[in-house]
Amino acid sequence: MVITMILGKHLPLWLDNSDKLHFDSLNNDIEVDVVVVGGGVAGLSIATLLKKEGLNVCVLEARRIGHYITSTTTAKLSYTSSLIYSHVLSTFGKEFGLKFKKSYFDGFNKIKEIIDELNIDCDLREVSFYILSSDETKGDILDIELNALNELGIPGKLVNNVPYPFENVGKAIVYENQLELNPIKYLHGLSKYVDGGGSFIFENSRVLDVEDLGERKVAKTENGSVKGKSVVVATNTPIHDPDSVYKHLNQNKSHGLGLLLKKDIKDMFIVFNPFHTLRSTPTSKGEMSIILGEHHSIDDSTDRFEFYKNLRRFSDDLLDVESFEYFWSGGDNLTEDRLAIIGETSQKGTYIATGFNSWGMNTGMVSGIILRDLILGKNNHYSDIFSPLRFKNKEHEIENERIEKFKNRSIKFTDSITKTVHKMNNDEGKIINCELGMLAIYKDNDSNTYILNGRCSHKGCILHWDNGEKIWECPCHGSVFDYKGNVIRAPAIHKLTQH
Ligand SMILES: Cc1cc2nc3c(=O)[nH]c(=O)nc-3n(C[C@H](O)[C@H](O)[C@H](O)COP(=O)(O)OP(=O)(O)OC[C@H]3O[C@@H](n4cnc5c(N)ncnc54)[C@H](O)[C@@H]3O)c2cc1C
Repeated sequence: MVITMILGKHLPLWLDNSDKLHFDSLNNDIEVDVVVVGGGVAGLSIATLLKKEGLNVCVLEARRIGHYITSTTTAKLSYTSSLIYSHVLSTFGKEFGLKFKKSYFDGFNKIKEIIDELNIDCDLREVSFYILSSDETKGDILDIELNALNELGIPGKLVNNVPYPFENVGKAIVYENQLELNPIKYLHGLSKYVDGGGSFIFENSRVLDVEDLGERKVAKTENGSVKGKSVVVATNTPIHDPDSVYKHLNQNKSHGLGLLLKKDIKDMFIVFNPFHTLRSTPTSKGEMSIILGEHHSIDDSTDRFEFYKNLRRFSDDLLDVESFEYFWSGGDNLTEDRLAIIGETSQKGTYIATGFNSWGMNTGMVSGIILRDLILGKNNHYSDIFSPLRFKNKEHEIENERIEKFKNRSIKFTDSITKTVHKMNNDEGKIINCELGMLAIYKDNDSNTYILNGRCSHKGCILHWDNGEKIWECPCHGSVFDYKGNVIRAPAIHKLTQH
């Protein structure tokens, strides 16, 4: 309660600064060319490019368009992501690096082209993007990246005059003419284009199963199913995953603030040591700055409000803050090799797009380009570097470790649920091990209790309580449930059972 007063509304600012747009839910059986499961930036970028080629598509969204990871993004659009080019060049070599560069530039240019062509009003602005380190001794990471940029012919340059609020930082790499936008307005624009003329978008239509009938795939929801020659699974972490790529994905989380400043930020920034990102956007309250930081792995059990407190302190030290307006958290999938996973799975006609490494605004469109080409049987110059099949036969030590740590974890036996509930504070969540098994208990502000199975419905890992978002979260694969057990985030499909 106190934190709400200090930090403003507990909501990603985009959801409060975009028009409402609704689509019906699926209530019959239909057939299209391609079924797209998931209505985030990846699903809608893919659906848009397929429809532009004359294919009929159907997007099935479990909740609302753009309302999960994409609503928590800071939506900086660029043909770079952090210090990615030195990593790609040193790990995979120049030929690979040039393919990677082409994919990022293609995605970036396609977004501009589509926004222009469809006339999408999404607060798009061209700005400079600065990458810098607040630790003088770490300047060499910029030099290494700059060498990679030069070798790959990418137009980033080193500057010594960094604008507000980093005037005191010695040097930065700057990329000119990069983009920032409002991601929900952008997705609404794409959705309005996709829906209609034999193509469809359905909201509140959770896919419970994808069946492979060989020449046809069927995505089944509670009240109807959609058949297509191909299916694209774009649910962030795939809900249908023939090659089990989920075992190679790690989950992170960051915290964001929307704030009004006495002096506005004009550009986009990534700053290291410690890691934060900054940009601003027009809102009904005026120019709103967005600051993101406090990165951590999803299994970090620190009280979530500690992260917000740190972020607030960082903002107060760096900026001249007038008011704190919004706060939220969000996380994305990270891959071991820092490359997205986009392409056809070993199940012919089934495609996935995931592992965006916190850079899915651009990579969502790269997914669109690659999957459009693969589905149409066209040659694509760089699809091989993102293939989901690259993990085949690779050990997944991380998966083994986390199953050991979070599924097989031993928790002290509690003999009485009643006593436990009695001792719990209001607005507290707790996992207990009792004669009924592992239970997840939440006691709300009015002392009502909600008792659920404490194991994730995906692979049975023991859930943990996120007191910031008031959700049960799976530390293994990132599934999220509300306190009533409803699924909020994939890969889980099924609710938690109640006790
Ligand atoms: C805090 C934060 C900051 C970021 N900043 C940037 C940035 O500046 N620039 C950048 O490029 N990227 C950024 N990213 C990354 C980017 O936002 C994500 O990579 C991207 O939004 C992921 O999109 P998605 O479509 O994969 O996921 P989502 O937006 O989560 O879409 C997946 C959709 O699938 C739906 N779904 C799930 N299960 C089912 C089911 N069974 N049936 C039907 N539908 C289902 C979900 O409800 C959801 O709407 C950031 C991410 C975070 C978390």
